[in-house]
Amino acid sequence: MDHRPLHEWGMGEKSAHPETHYRAESILKSLTADSSAYRFYEPEMLSLSLVRKVHSPALFDLYQTAQKLNPGQNISPSVFPKRHIMVADPTDIHHAGYFCSDSATPLMSKTYEAALFSASSAQDASMLVESGKSRVAYALCRPPGHHAQKDLFGGYCYFNNAAIIAKRMRAKGKVVILDIDFHHGNGTQEIFWQDDQVLFISLHGDPKEFYPHFTGYEHEDGEGKGKGFTANFPLGRGCDGSEYLKVLQSKVFPMIRKFDPASLVISAGFDTYHKDPLGGFALQTADFNTMGEMISNIGLPTVIVQEGGYHVDDLGLNVEAFLRGISHRK
Ligand SMILES: [Zn+2]
Repeated sequence: MDHRPLHEWGMGEKSAHPETHYRAESILKSLTADSSAYRFYEPEMLSLSLVRKVHSPALFDLYQTAQKLNPGQNISPSVFPKRHIMVADPTDIHHAGYFCSDSATPLMSKTYEAALFSASSAQDASMLVESGKSRVAYALCRPPGHHAQKDLFGGYCYFNNAAIIAKRMRAKGKVVILDIDFHHGNGTQEIFWQDDQVLFISLHGDPKEFYPHFTGYEHEDGEGKGKGFTANFPLGRGCDGSEYLKVLQSKVFPMIRKFDPASLVISAGFDTYHKDPLGGFALQTADFNTMGEMISNIGLPTVIVQEGGYHVDDLGLNVEAFLRGISHRK
């Protein structure tokens, strides 16, 4: 709640930052409306070694440098050097742009702590599923994670929560990460690009038109022994529930079954919603419910990690509809 980005810049326009703490409040309000529906857990701080398996030491150093910022101070990097000619110093906040991929992801004194607790929520959810206590668990992660790369933050993301738990879960068998956020999960794709034990699948708005622009095209399918273990489904503006669910049913689920994983991680963004200010799809609340049911029918232990979704008023309803579907509650 204390991580409060104020502004972002896109194509020269300054706008109010959409990744607000009100998002988490909207989700909590909907999930707690019926107190008997879910069991709630507060996250324990995770072991840093887990995060270090995914992210570079310099990124940690930079976030710790940002802890010294004044309360309320928002630092959006403004210099983005080409990397091959210089060495960057993560203890110098002026060098933040070296570790950042866009002008939408500011650093604040509370960012590091918030990002660690966000990853901790994901970890605790994964432990509930791994231990067999729950068939499915949801982590209310904020800030989100799927745009964070090994050594780059961006897209409102600082640590890649889905990747951190997938690295842990793959010790017990193959893992599928299914990314249903409106935007391509470029960070997760990069982290598992050469991995044949984690299948990464993303459905998203066509990057020709939508963030992150440089990745998410259909031809991107991994490299080395990871070749064939990344799959991208860019979809056009206006894609509605029936088209979206058809892609899941006819292309994505057969791919998951063929891979035969031990568990499933869902990078769950709700910016595919028809009213979302950042999205371009036309999904309705009922579609999230159906999607939850369909994913549940695959029959895998599942960890859901919150990613995007910026229509604050309806975000909680959409998350709840999805969770109701995946837990087969009417
Ligand atoms: Zn998104």
